[in-house]
Amino acid sequence: MSERIHLSPPDMSTRERKALLAAFDSNWIAPVGPEVDAFERELATRAGVSAAAALSSGTAALHLALVLLDIGPGDEVWTATMTFAATANAIRYVGAMPVFIDSEPESWNLDPVLLRQALREASKRGSLPKALIAVDLYGQCADYDAILSACDEHGVVVIEDAAEALGATYRERPAGSFGAIGVFSFNGNKIITTSGGGALVSNDDTLVERARHLASQARQPVAHYEHEEVGYNYRLSNLLAALGRAQLQRLDALIEKRREINQAYRQALEAVDGISFISEAPGRRSNSWLTCVLLDEAHVGVGPEQVREHLEAQNIEARPVWKPMHLQPVYRDCPVVHGAVAEDLFRRGLCLPSGSTLSKGAQQRVIDAFLGTPRLRRG
Ligand SMILES: *Cc1c(COP(=O)(O)O)cnc(C)c1O
Repeated sequence: MSERIHLSPPDMSTRERKALLAAFDSNWIAPVGPEVDAFERELATRAGVSAAAALSSGTAALHLALVLLDIGPGDEVWTATMTFAATANAIRYVGAMPVFIDSEPESWNLDPVLLRQALREASKRGSLPKALIAVDLYGQCADYDAILSACDEHGVVVIEDAAEALGATYRERPAGSFGAIGVFSFNGNKIITTSGGGALVSNDDTLVERARHLASQARQPVAHYEHEEVGYNYRLSNLLAALGRAQLQRLDALIEKRREINQAYRQALEAVDGISFISEAPGRRSNSWLTCVLLDEAHVGVGPEQVREHLEAQNIEARPVWKPMHLQPVYRDCPVVHGAVAEDLFRRGLCLPSGSTLSKGAQQRVIDAFLGTPRLRRG
């Protein structure tokens, strides 16, 4: 059996190994330390914001973002239906009601036209959401000119879930810098990883300082243990921050690699009648975190599940695209604005191995296996 090809494995070099061991030898084995401070500064610079709080996960960052904005029971928070469950789960953690919005077919991101319409209707009903969590899907920024203007019109605050989009840009501005608060993830399969980790970023330094406070059990700065509010244990370990710094130094190269992989898949598969890709909208530069294809079964002769099974039989991991939140049993009771586009993307989409460690040979193995799917018509 040939070696397994994973969807998006970690990409570690001797730089990360050295950084981790140096942090270990410094004995700063705690969720505070010089690596955490430096990682926060470097990440903020990279994300084009003034401050960052390094946290234990992207999910923790989303949760804290909602806590910081004082969102709770009785509030609605709108978000994209096409996202990972963590986005919606955080809304539930604070007791608010998620409302899901359909995707635009080209970028798969939240549809800003639907958003604007729905906000106007909600405004007439007097039931505006307290916040919108925009998601930068599969490494590409959502359409922030349109989203921010629609939200500004009604005073709705925007949180940017840039968990998948570190290093991407929208009109030359970095992902993570568009909302009042931005969120990143450094989970094992993301573009850079600290094994597990995340960050909350903002141009409001006071807000970020409050995030650090809440993430360290909201302990008051006195000698004894004094607490005036409910805190969380959400800080990132100093060891993992060292990994994060080393990964961040390689971010541009990791993005270039993923973009090349995306190009290779496009060149090999786009010619097949009925296969298409997420398009990179003008003014947006994706980090190509995952390359996803859409299969039109009527033309290709097979659907994504047949391709996935055929790849799996050759020890290649591919995965269905995110199942929309409004189709999830746990969110069945939540309102959805349209949803048919996301449902179609889910029915026809497939994520291909996209990790920055994927060699040219391995890319060819995936392409050959894909095109070798029984009954696939190359057209
Ligand atoms: C990965 C991811 C998260 C969660 O990040 P974790 O670090 O795994 O908690 C949130 N939102 C989106 C869109 C993600 O892809």
